[in-house]
Parts: sequence; structure tokens; C-alpha cells
Amino acid sequence: MSHSRRKLRKNSAATRAGAALAGVLCIALVASAAEPQRPDPASTEVWDPVPANIDPGDTSTAPSDAVVLFDGSDLSAWQGRDGDAAWTVEDGAFTIAPGSGDIRTRQEFGSVQLHMEWRSPTDIVGESQGRGNSGVFLMGRYEVQVLDSYDNATYSNGQAGSIYKQSIPAVNATRAPGEWQSYDIVFMAPRFDAAGNVERRSTITVFHNGVLIQNHFELRGPTVFIGEPAYEAHPAKLPLSLQDHRNLVSYRNIWVRELG
Ligand code: MG
Repeated sequence: MSHSRRKLRKNSAATRAGAALAGVLCIALVASAAEPQRPDPASTEVWDPVPANIDPGDTSTAPSDAVVLFDGSDLSAWQGRDGDAAWTVEDGAFTIAPGSGDIRTRQEFGSVQLHMEWRSPTDIVGESQGRGNSGVFLMGRYEVQVLDSYDNATYSNGQAGSIYKQSIPAVNATRAPGEWQSYDIVFMAPRFDAAGNVERRSTITVFHNGVLIQNHFELRGPTVFIGEPAYEAHPAKLPLSLQDHRNLVSYRNIWVRELG
């Protein structure tokens, strides 16, 4: 290769390198022009409304914004078949008086967060559905089963924590008879249109002793013992009731928070 040729080659290599550099710069410039402005984090901050301050209470007391349905002293928030609730209050709890009938709250509720504690009788009597049977009926219609399901075979969609005959609990979190247990329930009331057709089905979430056992289950209708459930229009708020299934189930520390 001659000297001039070598020079020419060197020059063209330099030109190529220059062009490449210009290209890179150009891309960098275009990229920097196209890069969006860094968003302001404050643009996604919401400062209003401010959630109300409440006192959450502890494991044995209700939050300050709850409606207390039983604080250990009396059944004044409840009524029975024939007037005042006839169940037995003792030692900060109340126990079903078998045969006296279901009890229901004087106040009516729609969608709620409900906390309640219950205890199966220590003396084990009966089996299957005959053992420690009671239940909480949201709006007097939609039952979360209360049953002594500690080593007690029964149909799965009727055991403790079932949405009776509609939904089996995810696990059996039942404690032994005589031990206190809790249900924490989020219940969304159904909505009906003017013609009485269900517009939004009722949903329910249940924690049994702190364990999620029903996760936003959509009810097929009110609880029925026989046959298929079917919605029927009812008022937006109704009393909450507890079932007398003639077993000595006890309750304590019951409160609800109304949900909008
Ligand atoms: Mg029951």
C-alpha cells in the first residue's frame, strides 16, 4: 500500500468515526428532547378528605365509632319473640335460653363490619348440626353459621364459618368447646331496583379467630334450609339476629360499624 493510499484510508476512517460520533450525539439530543418531564410526586397526593380520627379500642373493647350491641352488662340492644330478649346474661356474656326463640337487634343495619365473640358449650351434647348450633343472621336473613365444629363431622357447607348451605369456609379455624372464638365480618347488603330485582348481590367476608375463611363471597340469596336460595326485595336496613337452635351457645363483645 502506498503512502497516499494509507493516508486516504486514514482520512476516511476519521470521517466515519466523526459521522458515528455525530450520530450518537444526534440520538442523544433527540432522546433528551423526547424524554418526558419527571412527574411531580405531589401531583398524586390526596390531602382531602382526611379520615376521621377514632379510638380503635383493644381486643376487648369496641372502636369509638362502633354501635355496641353487647358490652357485657345487659341485652338492652336486643329484643326477643315476646318483647325483651330472654337470654341469660352472666359473667360479661350471654347464653341462649333454649326454646325462647331468636333475638334481634332493636336497631336496623344494612352493610356493616361486625365483630362478635362466641363460645360452644363445654359439655359436648349431640353431634353434627345438633352440637353447639347457633348463627348470626345479617339483616335477619343471611346466616354465618355458628357451630361446634371442633372434631365434629357435618356437611361442610353447614359447619362453623360457612355461609349456611352456600359457601364452605376455606379452613376450619375452630377452637375447642369452652374457648372463646371470634368472627369479624364485612357484610355488604344487597341492592334492589324499583321493580324488586336484585341489582347488587350481597357479599360477605369472614375472619374466624383472625383467619380469613370467606373472601368476598357473593350470596345467591337469603339462607334457606331446604332448596335453592333466591333474592326477594327487602328494606335497606333490618335487624341483625342470633339463632336459638336450642344449644347453650354464649356470646360477648358484639359491635358493628355501619358501612356507607
Ligand atoms: Mg345455625
